[in-house]
Amino acid sequence: MMRKRLALGHLPTPIQRPRRLAEALGVDLYVKRDDMTGGAEAGNKIRKLEYLLAAAREEGADCVITCGGLQSNHARATALLGASLGMRAVLFLRAADVAAGATLAGNVLLDRLAGAEIRLISPEAYKGRDAVMAEAAAEIRAAGGRPYVIPEGGSNGLGALGYVRAMEEIRKQLDVGLAGGKPFDVIVHACGSGGTAAGAALGAARYDVAGEVRAMAVCEDRATFARIALQIMEEARALEPGLGAPAHLVIDDTAKGPAYAVSTPEQRSRLIQVARLSGLILDPVYTGKAFSGLWDMAERGELSGKRVLFLHTGGLPGLLAQGSSFTDVV
Ligand SMILES: *Cc1c(COP(=O)(O)O)cnc(C)c1O
Repeated sequence: MMRKRLALGHLPTPIQRPRRLAEALGVDLYVKRDDMTGGAEAGNKIRKLEYLLAAAREEGADCVITCGGLQSNHARATALLGASLGMRAVLFLRAADVAAGATLAGNVLLDRLAGAEIRLISPEAYKGRDAVMAEAAAEIRAAGGRPYVIPEGGSNGLGALGYVRAMEEIRKQLDVGLAGGKPFDVIVHACGSGGTAAGAALGAARYDVAGEVRAMAVCEDRATFARIALQIMEEARALEPGLGAPAHLVIDDTAKGPAYAVSTPEQRSRLIQVARLSGLILDPVYTGKAFSGLWDMAERGELSGKRVLFLHTGGLPGLLAQGSSFTDVV
């Protein structure tokens, strides 16, 4: 049975070849512009929300509850798309200093413009986020509301189907002549909650889009994301039994930097070089780290002779909230 899906994204997104950047790295580089899936709501989360919000609608939800880091792109996309569908959004956002409140910048500004209710929670409380959201849902239900809970990053089996469809979309782009129609050798992307990796790995195999998916972790470690991705892939297969074995999924945690949302000076400097060589804007939390990992692979000679697709997953508001971390390098 095909799952219901809302048409929320501006699809298909283009696949581009940034020539000067490709030459500088010595890589046969293609970029899938999933940072262009929409306007202010753009990024990879729309593809997952096409399925998740369809399910919320089907259940008659009038409110969506989700969670993430303070500058969560997923929470922002949920808030904006929720507003467009007439669903209130309640966002549990992780903050080191809950008492300090949330500065109206970047994603938080967009969340508030969309009318989302922000509830800050400490990193300790965030560990129990699923229980916290279930409790909030029970309270809203008791007050007569109809809430729908979306997990962190929209990363469950249903959300991951969005990236199975993204791979189907790329197959169609290959079929009409892109890159001679041949599959890519490797897809590289940023991994923060595992749903994109899981969906891309399943879809890349199902639609013969790439032999390998390399998920660059931006936090946690290899083992953690390997376990999470496996779980999500199992869920996705239960929802869409036609999905077979995934493409080779490599979780690479060598570019995660000092901490979630904290990048190294080298990563920031590469983000700037990418902008100047291609006009592509990466962000310091996700895509900047993932691309820096790709850059390292190129320097080690691991990408020579390979056709590489970088999946640009968005994240611009997170960059705009971190302007002050660039004063040393711009
Ligand atoms: C959420 C996010 C990711 C990571 O995707 P997951 O499916 O959560 O692993 C990558 N890039 C950006 C910009 C994101 O917002």
